[in-house]
Amino acid sequence: MKRWNSWGDEANKMQLPEAADDFLRQQVGRTQALQDCQLAEVVLSVPQSRLPKHHLINQDKEQRVKHARGQSFPDWLAMRSGKFEVFPDGVCFPENAEQVKEILAFVQQKNIELIPYGGGTSVAGHINPVHSKNPILTMDMGHMNQLLSLDEQSNIATFGAGTPGPMVEAQLQAKGYTLGHFPQSFELSTIGGWVASRSSGQQSLRYGRIEQLFAGGSIQTFAGKLELPTFPASAAGPDLREIILGSEGRFGIITEVKVRVSKIAEKENFYVLFFPDWKNASDFCRELVQNRTPLSMLRVSNSVETQTQLKLAGHDKAVAWLERYLRWRGCGGNKCMLTLGITGSKKQVTGALAQVKSFQRPFHAVSTGQLLGRSWAKNRFRFPYLRESLWLKGYSVDTVETATDWRNLPAMLASVESLISNALNDENEKVHVFSHLSHVYGQGCSLYTTYLFCCANDYPQTLNRWKKLKKVASEAIVQNRGTISHQHGVGKDHAPYLSIEKGEQGMALLRQLCQHFDPKQQLNPKTLIDNSPQLNQPSE
Ligand SMILES: Cc1cc2nc3c(=O)[nH]c(=O)nc-3n(C[C@H](O)[C@H](O)[C@H](O)COP(=O)(O)OP(=O)(O)OC[C@H]3O[C@@H](n4cnc5c(N)ncnc54)[C@H](O)[C@@H]3O)c2cc1C
Repeated sequence: MKRWNSWGDEANKMQLPEAADDFLRQQVGRTQALQDCQLAEVVLSVPQSRLPKHHLINQDKEQRVKHARGQSFPDWLAMRSGKFEVFPDGVCFPENAEQVKEILAFVQQKNIELIPYGGGTSVAGHINPVHSKNPILTMDMGHMNQLLSLDEQSNIATFGAGTPGPMVEAQLQAKGYTLGHFPQSFELSTIGGWVASRSSGQQSLRYGRIEQLFAGGSIQTFAGKLELPTFPASAAGPDLREIILGSEGRFGIITEVKVRVSKIAEKENFYVLFFPDWKNASDFCRELVQNRTPLSMLRVSNSVETQTQLKLAGHDKAVAWLERYLRWRGCGGNKCMLTLGITGSKKQVTGALAQVKSFQRPFHAVSTGQLLGRSWAKNRFRFPYLRESLWLKGYSVDTVETATDWRNLPAMLASVESLISNALNDENEKVHVFSHLSHVYGQGCSLYTTYLFCCANDYPQTLNRWKKLKKVASEAIVQNRGTISHQHGVGKDHAPYLSIEKGEQGMALLRQLCQHFDPKQQLNPKTLIDNSPQLNQPSE
């Protein structure tokens, strides 16, 4: 069963090895866990629903709790403390586009605010209801989870928008196909959510981001249905798919998603290489991608992340042996780990590996073959479970991410990490910070920074610590010419920074789009952009 106040399935967990706990204590000091609230207590605090009755709407209090928050750090604090502040007044689970249409008509007529909900894995406050005079309804798309058709000539699959990652892949793989979209939230996030928040999967180097995979689909809006036909390419004016990609539930409900799928590859291998330092590792990464080496994934960890990952791996003796070997090969205390994936026919994999090897020498790479790569692949969706084990020991963890041109990367990395490291100096608190590059492009790359700090003595103070950290990190990102999000989207947490990259005209255009699709701002208000509400005007 899905955990109600943290990540994933109750049956799964990822333990924190003792050596890793010792290591983290050395980095940030002693800490202890905050007390968790029980689900039953939270349910008792849920107010009466303000929604008028409707046969498709469920007003059950437990459902309302389970749909009130996503997976951001403030969401965790709300769920663990039981202080949610706002709950949706009800939840609906449409089975098809007709029911979506029926609910939209009801919502419009009764002045209800509507939050589209995919897997609820947002880490930027996308699906959280905010205080409103109007009733709030959350629309969980999870019942629309089927592969509706597969065109094997054109490699186009059509899915219900609420299909979660594992069901996307299981239904395609049964027919010999894959979408190849593997965000780390794969287990719970949905295909409609990926489109609505412009998601990026771990193997985007081969398969593309969701923007490249999203071929078209259907969107129910207040004004009617928007159909996006699939074309391999088109010069017929601006591409309307771009309006829906990243729309974050503001313009309508995506009911069907058509995606470009591929035949399952014959072979897929993951390899781990080490480098003496960050410069060699990141330059190698850039060299590979700018030479168009046909890889499916690349991730390069800086030295602190490398050290932390090796501690988290457990297996102390094997790691000690590996470190001795690496030191002997020139990769000492500043070593950086690079994981790369190659996917394709046997011939393509052999060719790509040869190409990787041909670039290695000037960067002093040490290859460790496939052993660590296999372990990465096996655990790739388990890492989110570690957050629970860390939390139970009193560690708070969050991440920030961006993308920038290669030219800006060194300054960006230095600024983000140093500002985060020092952000709690006024409380004499240390922050353990580390980063990696994952999604890499010829022009630049994403930068993904994780920070770990101690929980304070209570929830409000812990939230305050997070606010300081998030603020300095977000400011460092925009000041260093990074986007406020490469893959997590805008939601409510990043909305204050959006105008910096969109500019005055861009923001005006986005507001006009909201106005066009949703004149009374009933759809997911305050997510993406914070327009002033006009809902309280009498309905026609
Ligand atoms: C542990 C963890 C790891 C993550 N790793 C990645 C990663 O590797 N790559 C990545 O890109 N993201 C990642 N994320 C972020 C998140 O998973 C993505 O943003 C994902 O795309 C959200 O999908 P979802 O189905 O959960 O959508 P939700 O979180 O439910 O919703 C996200 C937004 O989309 C809207 N929406 C959802 N469905 C619809 C629909 N059918 N119609 C209209 N609007 C809709 C919502 O209103 C909301 O604004 C991660 C999150 C977590 C918690």
